[in-house]
Amino acid sequence: MKRGADGSIHIYLEPVCEAVCPACGKRCSSIHESTRRIVRDAPLMTRERVYVHFEARRVQCSCGCHRTERLPWVSQRSRLTNLMIANIPSLLRLRVSINDAAAHDRLGWDTVKACDKVLLKSLFQKVDFTGVKHLAIDEFAVHKGHRYATVVMDLDTRRILWVGKGKSRRDVEPFFELLRQHHASGQIQSASCDMNAAYPRMVKDHLKGAVAVYDLFHVMANFIKEVLTEAKTVIREQIRKELRKNSKIRENEETRESRAGLVRKLSDLKSAEWVLARRPDDLQVDRQEQLNRLKADNELLASLYPIADLIRRIWCCRSEVPAREELQKTKNLLEAAAEKHDFSPARRFAKMLGRRAEGIVNAGKFKRGTGPLERANNAIKVLRRMAYGFRDFEYFVLKIKSIFPGRNPSPWRSLPDYAAVLKSGLWVPAFPGIP
Ligand SMILES: [Zn+2]
Repeated sequence: MKRGADGSIHIYLEPVCEAVCPACGKRCSSIHESTRRIVRDAPLMTRERVYVHFEARRVQCSCGCHRTERLPWVSQRSRLTNLMIANIPSLLRLRVSINDAAAHDRLGWDTVKACDKVLLKSLFQKVDFTGVKHLAIDEFAVHKGHRYATVVMDLDTRRILWVGKGKSRRDVEPFFELLRQHHASGQIQSASCDMNAAYPRMVKDHLKGAVAVYDLFHVMANFIKEVLTEAKTVIREQIRKELRKNSKIRENEETRESRAGLVRKLSDLKSAEWVLARRPDDLQVDRQEQLNRLKADNELLASLYPIADLIRRIWCCRSEVPAREELQKTKNLLEAAAEKHDFSPARRFAKMLGRRAEGIVNAGKFKRGTGPLERANNAIKVLRRMAYGFRDFEYFVLKIKSIFPGRNPSPWRSLPDYAAVLKSGLWVPAFPGIP
């Protein structure tokens, strides 16, 4: 054993017995050649780097084999001992980032990632569809603004089942194929998804026994975007027009006052769509006041205001009949607002709700939304930022799955202590407890 100038520890191993032929398993005294190998080993007590030096012997066996002998503690061509490899994921399991784990073990980023990937693959690559009945399907952006991926979650266990690049029909087809291969297509009862995406159609085509239900989150987002934001734009235009007219009149006390009123109305419109769509209990006092002013100032907003609450009520209905009634009420109110204020986006939205009625009125019955998936999406965003990135999509997917393993017992627990998952399989130290 020697100590390097940088404080690292060097252990020199000498063979104490003859090499074993990897083909026939007999001891073999004839060595064709040997090469010097240096591998990193797990630290003994401290964080010092430990290197093991040894000769890798290539046998020249009477059976005709000319290969390098196998060692139980290090793989061929690996620069790390099995114990070192077993050490790495222990940090990553504690949600330490690759960068930090690499710095801690003084290893390269790629090395840590490669070890982690092999381990994750062994734990998460296979999917088990046992007991899966309710799905949530959604898209998320892999890169800001472009490039999407689709993620499928088991809503009962909150386990992520599948992640695929893209969001088109062709991109998601492999998931349904996978379900078929596992003979699990028939057991799916509902799939929660965004009504505007391509997913509902796919669910209808591939899962005969399932109902595609729309989740409240996406419907509300659509209502905000297609109705409330449109209304805001119309009103803002009107106010600006009045302001321009006002600026042409000679200034006096009266015009000054009305001008100030218009400016206030304009500033109240900021994020008006969110204030109008929120549950009233969730609003803070100043937002509550903003809401009251918005309703008092604009008849259109006042007549659109009750709709968000009506939409929420549909999702509270546990059975189809009352849900259908609530949906009808919502549509009536939208139509009335469209009629009264000549506001066509409300009519369009009402028609759209009518077309998608089946997925809407059944939503409450299954009482499931993509809510858990939305939360998963946020975690995925964090992952993305941690630059696990798109460079290795397979790894990205495994990482996502490992963060959402579901409520089942953690797959991590199936691994014995100090075990390393190598490319060639699982390695367990010869003496359990004494690696
Ligand atoms: Zn042999």
